[in-house]
Amino acid sequence: MTTSGTAQFGENGAETENVESDSGRQVDVVALGIVTAAILLFVTTGAAIGPAVLKSLAGTGPGPDRFLLNAFLLNIAIIIFGWSRYRQLCEEIRQRKRAEQQARRLAETDPLTGFLNRRSFHRAVDDLIRRSAARDRDVVLAMIDLDNFKQVNDCNGHTVGDRLLQECARRISGCLPIPALISRIGGDEFAIALECDGSRSERIDRIAAALVEAIGQSAMVDTISVEVTASIGLAGSNIDDGEEARSNAAALLEKADMAMYHAKRQGRNSFAWFEAPMAAEMRARTALEQAIRQGIARGEFVPFYEQQIDLRTGELTGFEMLARWNAPQLGLVAPDIFIPVAEEIGAIASLSESLIAQALEDARGWDARLTLSVNISPLQLRDPWFAQKLLKLLLEANFPPHRLEIEITESCLHRNLAQVRTLIASLKNQGIKVSLDDFGTGYSSLAMLRSLPFDRIKIDRSFVSDLTGSKDSAAIVHAIAMLGKGLDLPVTAEGIESSEVLSHLRQYEQIKGQGYLYGQPRPAAEIAEWLSEHGLLAHPQLPNADFQSASPESPPIAPMQAGALLPAARMQG
Ligand code: C2E
Ligand code: CA
Ligand code: CA
Repeated sequence: MTTSGTAQFGENGAETENVESDSGRQVDVVALGIVTAAILLFVTTGAAIGPAVLKSLAGTGPGPDRFLLNAFLLNIAIIIFGWSRYRQLCEEIRQRKRAEQQARRLAETDPLTGFLNRRSFHRAVDDLIRRSAARDRDVVLAMIDLDNFKQVNDCNGHTVGDRLLQECARRISGCLPIPALISRIGGDEFAIALECDGSRSERIDRIAAALVEAIGQSAMVDTISVEVTASIGLAGSNIDDGEEARSNAAALLEKADMAMYHAKRQGRNSFAWFEAPMAAEMRARTALEQAIRQGIARGEFVPFYEQQIDLRTGELTGFEMLARWNAPQLGLVAPDIFIPVAEEIGAIASLSESLIAQALEDARGWDARLTLSVNISPLQLRDPWFAQKLLKLLLEANFPPHRLEIEITESCLHRNLAQVRTLIASLKNQGIKVSLDDFGTGYSSLAMLRSLPFDRIKIDRSFVSDLTGSKDSAAIVHAIAMLGKGLDLPVTAEGIESSEVLSHLRQYEQIKGQGYLYGQPRPAAEIAEWLSEHGLLAHPQLPNADFQSASPESPPIAPMQAGALLPAARMQG
């Protein structure tokens, strides 16, 4: 065993290499045999004709037998030809061996780091477990996942990403003082297998801590300083971790993977040993994923609506759609639970599209002055067809684009700037409005804000709800309100929970607000009921009810009162 993945390759390939070199040697032997036989023949014929040649040259005898002389000359030709053929064969064999070795190296190692790839690592770990068991020793497997590598790749490009992976590979090798197998088993995932002695040794803890420390140091790639951290999961082949002992590479990788996810959930940049409850956690997570997939198919995800108010006039201007999951076993589930999972399992687009379709259908029945805001996931921003899909939904629901507002979270801007710019442009071309959500939490620069044609910024509720209690929050809200004014961008404050906060916010112009002061988000039927009671449903008798616009004489719409319809508990996610 060695600390290099590539060196291990020779060990793995030893068996096949022997077979090949045997066949090479056979060819060598045949060629050499022919040359040897020719030399023997040369000696024999030479001995036979040699004296006759000498005598003939001295003029004391007849010349050599012509037949033997021809055989002798032919023999010389065979030796020259045989020898050159022998050299040629040797060279061909050498080249073929080199090519085969290179092909094997390519097939078994990761070209970027030189470490073993996933497939050969599996084989090598199985081998190591077998050999270690024979020596009465155990194997520990460490799974390393870089925490924010994707961000580095997206922000700085793949060349920088590749160089960073190579730097991490160097640091990983540098932290392993003892023989180890190292593999890059995925994009930003590395795995290490080490021989150890049964228990969770402190030595392994020290190595894991050193790996976390080394990878967490910032790295200079070209002139760019990049930062990543690592989460590491550890599992041992014979450690009593409460799980049924199955000692093979696949079982160890599975356990180390669970421990690695645990380390990530605990805040990343750390390491964790596998423990049995992690397997239960993982099973629960798999069940949740399954339930979400089924829930989408069964239409269990429904839109709830939160009022949006013009704070200066006190008028209801529209609703923000907030997703809820009516899960049969769990009750009403909040989006913070299911949106991240839906994103991870690749179901966010279909979930979001079905929610938006339902919301457009609902909002079509409202007074034409009321707008609809919907949130979209950063993943949907990357879909080049998103604007077209949205347009299709609008057409199917016969909903006017100018009443729809898309909310994009600030934190995803810097990762997808070019894509966001294109998307905003095509949404705006269709007449859809675009807001920047959770402003103040995502480090977007003023230049970025100016270069993207948003229609509105929404101040994150963490600053708003704290407004009257914290000078800092008040200063941030003020700064954002002034920024909005300077850039001529209307502002919405979210998370208004008290009348003190409301009266503080009323000092600003062009400001909308939303929050529990006006009531919790409510299901479509309750919104429709309230709107109907107040004569605020669309007028189907008008020829083009869906596209009717507010007439200047329309009276302002007063907001619903908090708790007027339902006790808050039923609204909670
Ligand atoms: P968000 O866009 O910031 O939505 C506002 C969240 O704040 C909502 O939580 C809302 O219920 C809550 N909220 C509103 N007023 C108050 C208040 O006065 N006090 C407090 N403490 N909270 C208030 P919710 O519904 O749990 O949604 C959480 C997040 O989930 C949303 O944050 C949004 O980012 C995301 N989300 C919701 N629906 C969707 C969706 O359909 N698609 C996507 N991609 N994300 C969604
Ligand atoms: Ca929002
Ligand atoms: Ca928000």
